[in-house]
Amino acid sequence: MNEIDVYNTYSNYLKDRYGEKVYKLPISLRLSCPNRDGFISRGGCTFCGEEGGSFENLSNRLRVRQQISRNMDYIRNRYKAEKFIAYFQSFSNTYLPLEEFKEYINESIVEDIVGISISTRPDCIDDRYLEFLREVQDRHNLDITIELGLQTVNYHSLMKINRGHTLGEFIDAVMRIKKYQFRICTHLILNLPWDSMIDVIENAKVLSALGVDEVKLHSLYIVKGTKMAEEYERHEIQMISKEEYMKRVITFLEYLDPNIVIQRIIGRAPEEDTLFVNWQESWWKIRDEIVEMMKERKTCQGMKFNYLGGKAIKRFN
Ligand code: SF4
Repeated sequence: MNEIDVYNTYSNYLKDRYGEKVYKLPISLRLSCPNRDGFISRGGCTFCGEEGGSFENLSNRLRVRQQISRNMDYIRNRYKAEKFIAYFQSFSNTYLPLEEFKEYINESIVEDIVGISISTRPDCIDDRYLEFLREVQDRHNLDITIELGLQTVNYHSLMKINRGHTLGEFIDAVMRIKKYQFRICTHLILNLPWDSMIDVIENAKVLSALGVDEVKLHSLYIVKGTKMAEEYERHEIQMISKEEYMKRVITFLEYLDPNIVIQRIIGRAPEEDTLFVNWQESWWKIRDEIVEMMKERKTCQGMKFNYLGGKAIKRFN
């Protein structure tokens, strides 16, 4: 596994793949998402703020190339990195007319970019866009990753957060992206107020069965001005404790295929924009506590990954 030997970290995957440190450069486009512009709904997911899922971007008024070059200079100086991934982060980046999408992707292909990551919703996956990305991959020898927001496999919870799609669309998107052999990263929130440990385990099982490549875990934070913030202030939803969150992350990792790469195990957001974030502790402290707890318990990612491939029949072997 990796530096901390308890789960398969993204930084180690990148080092193995490219032979050196690689950093993601966030890019923000002026776009929206069908769950906000009225095509599916106007409200958006109840936890989603105006940034569309990101606090780390430069202004979307800057051209893609300007955003890349500013972020590249900063990261080059600060972390001495030489290779980068162009990361289209905010909102649903494939929810653009095809020609516009092509223009932005083409603009992101500059020297030292080794891959392109594109965040989107499962119901915004279309073969014409995937076809174009395959051409980009082949022509420029770049790795393409599609980052799909799912949040939970519990379709009742998906309705409660007004997600606007269910598990079915996610499965469809994964199966279609897989035909193009792009990497797939899935974003999950392990502590949605309606989910329990049963959902946490099912999240791990479904992602393992589908063979996604990467996972990004977020802890739920309550962004000011959102529908979820109103529910939180009216005490209609409760946050689980930090200890329970840590238990959920560990259980999730235990059930997850050990080959799946973990981009992160806890989210982050600025305190000034939120009513609740990470139990008012820094994200990296909680991450370190989780790792320590896993070491103490002598457990690791994949410890309980024994349920696929005809588990009940194995007894006859
Ligand atoms: S799909 Fe993403 S951008 Fe759209 S409302 Fe939900 S979280 Fe926000």
